[in-house]
Order: sequence, then structure tokens, then C-alpha cells
Amino acid sequence: MISKLLFYVYLTHILCYWGFSFIWNIYNTYPYNKKESIKVIKYVINIQITILPICGFIFYYFYNKLDHTYILSHPTFSMSELSKLILMVIWEDGYFYYIHRLFHTRYLYKFHILHHKWQNPIPWEALYASRTENILLNFFPVLTAPLLFNLQIFYIFLWVIIATVTSLFAHTNDTLHSIHHKYRNVNYGLTLIFDRINGTYKLE
Ligand SMILES: [Zn+2]
Ligand SMILES: [Zn+2]
Repeated sequence: MISKLLFYVYLTHILCYWGFSFIWNIYNTYPYNKKESIKVIKYVINIQITILPICGFIFYYFYNKLDHTYILSHPTFSMSELSKLILMVIWEDGYFYYIHRLFHTRYLYKFHILHHKWQNPIPWEALYASRTENILLNFFPVLTAPLLFNLQIFYIFLWVIIATVTSLFAHTNDTLHSIHHKYRNVNYGLTLIFDRINGTYKLE
């Protein structure tokens, strides 16, 4: 059952990723290098059919140890379930902020340089990153959250949709993260929480 769940979660991620990118491309008016963007598509598909399933298989082992009856139960719309979502956002944002900063140190920047190839990012560039970066910075915090916070199936799907769509949205024009792509030493986080705490935020 958990393997089926992970498979549908994976499909949801793929549909959100390329669905959002497709719709953005219809309405986008900013110019971008179409030829280079095709390379990005090919690279990201490669990541999604190799590295991501491998991570899924590893996490399957841990997900399988959770209480299946609770995971598969009907969603309860209580304050405790909703507060879990807020805590998960803070968990992902905090993790992303500090590990992302580490990737900007001179020892680790070689693993992050690919993601900074585009100064004006496009949505499907969200996973245009080295394998190391994708595993540690993108997949790990998202996949660990349901383990840390013990979620019902409805919230697992909601979490994957939120995580995928926000990372794609971050790579559209005029966002906090697009400012990070421009200057590289500001806005390391996904929200401004940790950038404000550490004095690394820039609003334009
Ligand atoms: Zn980025
Ligand atoms: Zn960066």
C-alpha cells in the first residue's frame, strides 16, 4: 500500500511540475533562451526518472515503518493537522536556508554552480541542479517532513503539491528567490523568515 502511495505522490509531483511549467509558458511575456530551456527540460526529466525514484525507494523503507492505518485514514481538519503543515513549512525553510548557505561556501559551491547558470530563472529550472544538490537540498527536506510529522494521506499529497508548486513559483520572475539568482548572496530561504533572522534578505 505504501509503495502505491509513493507512486501516486511521485505522479502528483510530475504532473504539478510540468503542468505549472506548461501553463506559465503560455502566459509568460518575459524573453528567455528557448534552446537552453530545452536542455533544462531534458536534464530535469533525467533527474526525475533516476535520482528521484532512487530517493523514493530509500524512503519507502522508512515510510513502511509508519502506522499505515493512520496514514490511510480519512483526513481530519483539526488545528493539530493544520499546524503540522505550518511546522513543515518552517522545517523545510530552515533546512533549505542553512544547507543552501553551506552550498554557497567555496568548498561546496561546485555542487551548486549548475543551479546558478540562469540569472533570470524559468520555473522548470527548479530541479536544474547537480545530483548532490537535488538529493540534499531539494528532495531530502520534502521527503523527511511526512516522517517527522506523521501525516494522513490527504496531507501528504497536499504537502507534495505545496512543495512542488512553491519551488516552481520561486523560479518565476520578480520573486524573492529570483533575486537570489541575481545577487547570489541574499534570500537563501524559501520565505523571508530565516533571511530576516540572519540579515540576508533583499526585497528588490
Ligand atoms: Zn533557484
Ligand atoms: Zn544559491
